[in-house]
Amino acid sequence: MIRLSQINKSYSIGQNKMHVLKGIEMHIAPGELVSIMGSSGSGKSTLLNILGLLDNYDSGEYHLNNLLIKNLSQTKAAQLRNKFIGFVFQSFNLLAFKNAVENVALPLYYQKVSRKERNKLACEYLDRIGLKEWANHLPSEMSGGQKQRVAIARALISQPKVIFADEPTGALDSTTSMEVMDIFKEVNKQGITVVIVTHEDDISKMTDRIIRLKDGLIINQ
Ligand code: ADP
Ligand code: MG
Repeated sequence: MIRLSQINKSYSIGQNKMHVLKGIEMHIAPGELVSIMGSSGSGKSTLLNILGLLDNYDSGEYHLNNLLIKNLSQTKAAQLRNKFIGFVFQSFNLLAFKNAVENVALPLYYQKVSRKERNKLACEYLDRIGLKEWANHLPSEMSGGQKQRVAIARALISQPKVIFADEPTGALDSTTSMEVMDIFKEVNKQGITVVIVTHEDDISKMTDRIIRLKDGLIINQ
């Protein structure tokens, strides 16, 4: 599913270069539920953004689904993201003035699915995560856990092969975090590969494999 070989990534800050990923070697098989652990600033988000085709890398090779991801145009990257990838972020990234159904349906809007059809499907996904009654509520009327469940439903609606989650429980209390992790486990059982970035032991323990990132390198996997 995912194969990284000698991935390097630096950021330029004025005259200086900051080497963040220093030759990442990594492999994630289809259907795995893995976490990427590392302290703050270790490059987890940088790595996840590369995996999710949101950012480029400087050198090395990244294969996603046996496809070499290199020098993609913005359009091609967006196409592949729509086809393969769902994202979940710490801050939910829901549209504030759209209700739960409209937020979940958003990816289908970009795929030009009719309003009636996309809202019907969005209601089904909300039902699956136990938020049917919240369909017409705005994000501001929901708890953090509910917002994150809406974000997960939105990630699932385009039937991705892989979900990338960047600190998805970072803004949640521990009980709610476990509930969100249970949903990821359920999603994974349905065959979707799930990659969760976290710095919390409790969260990584709920995944099948822990990949540790330190000083820009994978120290075990
Ligand atoms: P983590 O998610 O593990 O906390 P990040 O990948 O966000 O780490 O960041 C790794 C390092 O790269 C940090 O020192 C951060 O300040 C730096 N960094 C991240 N994004 C950028 C950017 N766009 N420009 C410059 N430096 C960045
Ligand atoms: Mg981060």
